[in-house]
Amino acid sequence: MGAMEMALRQATIEPARKALERMVQEKASRQKMVCHKCGGDLNMESYDRGRDLTTSFETIHFTRDYGFCPRCAEYVYPADIALGLHTRAPASPKVQEICALTALRSPAGQAQNDVLRLTGIELDASTLHHEARRQGERALTMRDVDELLTQTPEGIAALAGRAETPNTPFTLVIEIDAWNIRERDNWGQTKAFKKKGKDTQRWHWVYTGTVFRLDQRGTTESGRPVITERGYVATRKGIDAFQRQLYAEALQRGLLQAELVLIIADGAIWIWNIAEDRFKGAMQRVDLHHVQEHLWTLAAEIYGRNIVEAQKWIQPLLSWLERRHDGALDVINGLEDMKTTIKKLTQEHSEAIDREINYFKEHQHRMDYKAGKKLGQPVGSGAIESTCSQYQRRFKLTGQFWSLEGDEAFLALSTLHRNGRWKQLFPYDPL
Ligand SMILES: [Zn+2]
Repeated sequence: MGAMEMALRQATIEPARKALERMVQEKASRQKMVCHKCGGDLNMESYDRGRDLTTSFETIHFTRDYGFCPRCAEYVYPADIALGLHTRAPASPKVQEICALTALRSPAGQAQNDVLRLTGIELDASTLHHEARRQGERALTMRDVDELLTQTPEGIAALAGRAETPNTPFTLVIEIDAWNIRERDNWGQTKAFKKKGKDTQRWHWVYTGTVFRLDQRGTTESGRPVITERGYVATRKGIDAFQRQLYAEALQRGLLQAELVLIIADGAIWIWNIAEDRFKGAMQRVDLHHVQEHLWTLAAEIYGRNIVEAQKWIQPLLSWLERRHDGALDVINGLEDMKTTIKKLTQEHSEAIDREINYFKEHQHRMDYKAGKKLGQPVGSGAIESTCSQYQRRFKLTGQFWSLEGDEAFLALSTLHRNGRWKQLFPYDPL
């Protein structure tokens, strides 16, 4: 039957292409010569300017008029705008979407083959790459608009108005983390830089967040936690930009309607600064796994290879943390005791214990895991860790080397897709 499908596509593609060409030309010819921005009349520049388009039915040709808007000081092709086309990029809206969607899955070279097999459309890798990048920039513009809304009370109300929330009280969970991305800073200057012994690659932080309602979190039959719906934020434009984007996303997920807001993350100080700045009054929690790691690290430092002793020491502490409301205080006391009970404590060990005492004192109010479990809340930041690894899988693929701007555009595109707002970019599809 596969062969039948192929044969039918072959037999119908030319009539379909001709029909599309005729429809496009009719729509183009109907357009009035007015500016799409200000609505003013255009000064006629040229009639019947031709262009070729790559469409899902191969290449079509059509002509359209264009003019100059004296008020906006801009050349305008009304037909291109009405048809959803970029004035220079040759992709039809459907092809634009195919480029954007496949680029999210695989690098352009591989995507080229996938597109050909799946749709029969021949696109070269460079067109695919550039078109995906252009769609990423559109996603970036949309993100910027939302980010700007967080700066005014009216904007905040508008973002909050988009939230679809239940009538019953609910908890909103926000998880935050960061990961590294390798980028080339000085595009095209690799040789010159290498001569000078300088590296052209650098690691950049990608700040990442996820937002979901507690009632949107459940478990599969096998007991694996799943979140049915959630929002994502990812940017490498710095903490301030991240903070605004996260706020915008949280507002759209019910921040202002939530009865309780819970922020979960590892111990990084910048995260708790964001929590204080933007999410005042939110409950804060340090990821339990990170806290356990701290104790294990200390155990390894003090007891070395004596695993039996290390286990004996650590078990009660781990259990206090999970089973007592003020388990962190018990751990602090346990650490204090350690300094007196262990004979011949070295300077190094003593400092290591003090370091951990300070850590637990600093985060003590973020460590009531017993209460968290009672309320059915997550005690760890597993949701954000899986978010980060999803982004990383795509960004750390070999051959995936964009510029700084390209990476950000791609992050915005990927995030828009994850957030279920793809239709905003390609509104033509009723699906
Ligand atoms: Zn104008």
